[in-house]
Amino acid sequence: MIKVRYVERPKLTNTEKIFFLDFLRGMKITLKNFFRRTITTKYPFEKLTPPKRFRGVHGHRIKNGKEPPSFKVLEKFMEIKDGESRCVACYMCQQACPVPELFKIEAVQLPNGRKKVIKFDMNLLNCMYCGLCTEACPVDCIIHTDIYEVAGYHRASGVAHLSDLTERAKDFDNRRYHEPDRIWIDDKERSKLWGQIKWS
Ligand code: SF4
Ligand code: SF4
Repeated sequence: MIKVRYVERPKLTNTEKIFFLDFLRGMKITLKNFFRRTITTKYPFEKLTPPKRFRGVHGHRIKNGKEPPSFKVLEKFMEIKDGESRCVACYMCQQACPVPELFKIEAVQLPNGRKKVIKFDMNLLNCMYCGLCTEACPVDCIIHTDIYEVAGYHRASGVAHLSDLTERAKDFDNRRYHEPDRIWIDDKERSKLWGQIKWS
């Protein structure tokens, strides 16, 4: 059974009642903030670029010569051409995910004994953007991008397929691959947004 706790409103003194002191105290805070620098943005007319480490919609990297050393070992078991998904079908991302059902990963074994990924779908409606899948991937294949506008008119649009994920990763890498991996875009940006705030 849920217990509800009521808190009594503090009683005002006669002076407070006569001179509206509570109201004036409130207005003082309002006026102080009225002249402060605005830190909110006029979205969707003004859009901020999130830092590179932002956990936006996922991307799926291809084999492009920028793979980590682990890929060279795992690649031997896979049939992956340049420009194709670099996924080695290890399912580590799915294992790490708190909602593993959101992944649909399928790989087939070819006559030469190597494997090839034929399906990689993610139902992002169930994703909480925790980043565990990206941490688990041994070949830096699944990543978060800086894209955060994902609203759609149909639930089906929340399912990202291999081709969508690949295009997103290409776009993200083209724009930001060489940018230093930092929390803020740059010090100017940080100062613009947060530098004026006095934390109490
Ligand atoms: S970000 Fe978290 S919830 Fe989303 S797919 Fe990755 S591990 Fe799963
Ligand atoms: S962890 Fe990486 S390589 Fe393994 S299945 Fe997921 S995306 Fe593919």
